[in-house]
Amino acid sequence: MTGYYSSPFQRRASVGVDVGGVMVGGSAPVVVQSMTNTDTADIDQTVAQVAALHRAGSEIVRITVDRDESAAAVPFIRDRLARLGVNVPLVGDFHYIGHKLLADHPACAEALAKYRINPGNVGFKDKRDKQFAAIVEMAIRHDKPVRIGVNWGSLDQELLTRLMDENQRNGSPMTAQDVTREAIVQSAILSAELAEEIGLGRDKIILSAKVSGVQDLVAVYAELATRSNHALHLGLTEAGMGSKGIVASSAAMGILLQQGIGDTIRVSLTPEPGGDRTKEVQVAQELLQTMGFRQFVPIVAACPGCGRTTSTVFQELAQSIQDDLRKNMPVWRTRYPGVEQLKVAVMGCIVNGPGESKHADIGISLPGTGEMPTAPVFIDGRKAATLRGPNIASDFEKMVADYIEQRFGHGSRAKAAE
Ligand code: SF4
Repeated sequence: MTGYYSSPFQRRASVGVDVGGVMVGGSAPVVVQSMTNTDTADIDQTVAQVAALHRAGSEIVRITVDRDESAAAVPFIRDRLARLGVNVPLVGDFHYIGHKLLADHPACAEALAKYRINPGNVGFKDKRDKQFAAIVEMAIRHDKPVRIGVNWGSLDQELLTRLMDENQRNGSPMTAQDVTREAIVQSAILSAELAEEIGLGRDKIILSAKVSGVQDLVAVYAELATRSNHALHLGLTEAGMGSKGIVASSAAMGILLQQGIGDTIRVSLTPEPGGDRTKEVQVAQELLQTMGFRQFVPIVAACPGCGRTTSTVFQELAQSIQDDLRKNMPVWRTRYPGVEQLKVAVMGCIVNGPGESKHADIGISLPGTGEMPTAPVFIDGRKAATLRGPNIASDFEKMVADYIEQRFGHGSRAKAAE
């Protein structure tokens, strides 16, 4: 039985890349990033969304740079964010005319912390390598890293056609799906080799190879991780809306992260109309946190409820506590160092309530149907109080706040013991 409970997890060794002060790869923890969906030329809206994404926990934010007006806006966006105290690295997403925009707008080239190039959208035929080289040279001149981001929706068609033709001539040809996967991997690796030949250091290159199918993503990244030691940006493209997008992204990235593959992640969720863009940041954080790789916000363990819970009190309390913790995290992160390690339990009845609550730092077992209308609260594994009456929820929230102050605040128990 030796080793039965030991984790096989080990991060793949990759070359670390400094993205505006945030390390991606090497021995750095997996970085959460996101992307705006505003028109970058609209400075007000873009600043507001970048700030919201960063406050939600995005450590790098990508913005579209698709035309002169967008490129011209970038330095103003960076400066406005700095005045707001939002010092998040901005990545420029370039397609087709990136070489021209970077050359015509040196202030934009300087303000960005990284350039994203899609080798399938950099130019066509004989212009492709020239324009790709121009962007890489611009990155070298401004001392910026690049992400070579292949996407199968815009895969280099010449490369794909060549591999398909070679495959046809092969005695035992691969399936078209396998050839496509190979073309995606080769596009990323050949582009990285070209960038290095031009003079960009390996510590300035991040690779990604995004596809929209879970099995395709796992296969492509497993291959990419075997054939290169570049830092890898992980993400399922066109993941979709709502639970479908969350499940697909989590399934695909969970498998890869568990194998140590992936240095930065983005969860590409399609927001519902009027929906909150920061949801993708929350999902990315929850993915890393539930897998035990990073801690961002205190965990609230809550039972699903069943026939023993006929009221919605415990659901409302679990939701309220979770929302309260997440809302306060931007301030608590500095006021209460270590608070992200807190574990709270909100349980619906006596069956598992006391047991689960004892495993948490602070937990409450609410009364199920037919139970006495009392709610024992457990702190550090011991029963600390019994709440009753109409204010159980607010009383418990106050106890959580007091516990945080005592344990993580200035002059906390832990600090007093140092
Ligand atoms: S703890 Fe109680 S209410 Fe919650 S799921 Fe279990 S039996 Fe049901």
